[in-house]
Amino acid sequence: MAKDDLIVVAGAGGFIGGALVRYFSDKGFTRIRAIDKKPLPVWYQRTPGVECLCLDLSDEQNCRRAVEGATEVYNLAADMGGMGFIERFRVECLRSVLINTHMIESAYRAGAKRYFYSSSACAYNTTLQADPNVRALKESDAYPAMSERGYGWEKLISEMFCQEYCAERGMKTFIARFHNVYGPWGTWDGGREKAPAAICRKVLEARNSGVKAIEIWGDGTQTRSFMYIDDCVHGIDQIAHCEKLIATPINLGSSELIAINDLVTMAEAIGGVQLERTHDLNAPRGVAGRNSDNAFIQQILGWEPSLPLRTGMERTFAWIDQQMQDRKAGKHTVRDL
Ligand code: NAD
Repeated sequence: MAKDDLIVVAGAGGFIGGALVRYFSDKGFTRIRAIDKKPLPVWYQRTPGVECLCLDLSDEQNCRRAVEGATEVYNLAADMGGMGFIERFRVECLRSVLINTHMIESAYRAGAKRYFYSSSACAYNTTLQADPNVRALKESDAYPAMSERGYGWEKLISEMFCQEYCAERGMKTFIARFHNVYGPWGTWDGGREKAPAAICRKVLEARNSGVKAIEIWGDGTQTRSFMYIDDCVHGIDQIAHCEKLIATPINLGSSELIAINDLVTMAEAIGGVQLERTHDLNAPRGVAGRNSDNAFIQQILGWEPSLPLRTGMERTFAWIDQQMQDRKAGKHTVRDL
C-alpha cells in the first residue's frame, strides 16, 4: 500500500476507530478519512491532518460519499456498549446491520481493495459459555449458531455479508472477532462503558468520595478476557493485510482469563483501597464465561495480543483518574452523547 492511498475508517469518533486512525497516521499514511455520526466536537479523539466527516452510515448515500476513492475501508461503526447496553437495546444493536450492508456495497462499487469488519465474540454460540471455567472459544464455535440476542446475531449476519462478497464478487474482506477491548480513550461512564472502565471509575469514585463501597454486577464469578487497545489496532492491521485471512473470521482477543471479582481486586490494588462489596444479582451480567482461543492467530500470524492485564489496567486507571479531574475542572473529556 502506498502512503498516500486513501484509508477510510468508519466509527472513528469512537474508541477503537479513533485509535485506529491515530495508528495509521503514526505509521505515515497521509490520506485518512475518518467518519462518525457523532458531531465532531464530541469525537473521543481527533488526529491532526485527518479528514473528518460527520455522516450517518446507516444511510446508503452517505456510505457512497464516505468511501469515494478509498483503497481500504475499515468498518468500526456500530451502535454498541457493554452488557448494560446490549442487553437493553437489542433493536438498536440489530439496526447496525444497515451500516455494514451499505458500507460493504459502497466499498465494492468504489473498487476498494480491502474491507475490514469488526465482529465480536458475542457472535459465538452462547450455550458454550454457560460455565465460568469456560473452554476458550475457537473460530469454529460460531456454528451451529446461537449468538447473543440482538448484538451477536447482527455481527454474525454481517460476517456472512463479508464472506459472500468475497465468494461471489471477489472482494478481499477481513473479519476479526474482538474479545473485550479496553484502554485510554474508551467510554468510561454514561451506560455504554465495559467492565474494566466501569470498575476503574467505581474504585476512583469510592476513593475520592471516601465512601468505601462498590457495587458489582452479578455475583462476580463471571469470567472474561480483556485486550488492550494497542494490541487491538496492531492486530487489525495485521489481519487486514494477511492474504491467508481473506473472508476468514479470526479471534482478536487476549487469552488472559479473569473473574470480575478478581478484576475488582486488581483495580483496588492499583488505587490503593479496599472496598466493601455488594453484588447486584439483577444487573446484566452476560454469559458465565468467555475466553479467546488464540491457536489460530498464533498459527497464521505468529502473534497474539499480549499486554498483561495488570499493565493495561494501570494505564487505564490513571487515564480515567485524569478524565475525572478534568471533568471536575470543566475541561473537555470523553463523554458519550
Ligand atoms: P464505540 O461505541 O466507541 O464506537 C463506535 C462508533 O460508531 C461510535 O462513535 C458511534 O457514534 C459510531 N456509529 C454508530 N452508529 C453509526 C452510524 N449509523 N453512522 C456512523 N457512525 C456510527 O465502540 P468501539 O468499542 O470503538 O467498537 C468499535 C467496533 O468494534 C464495533 O463494531 C463494535 O461492535 C466492535 N467491538 C468492540 C468491542 C469492545 O470491547 N470495545 C468488542 C467486540 C466488538
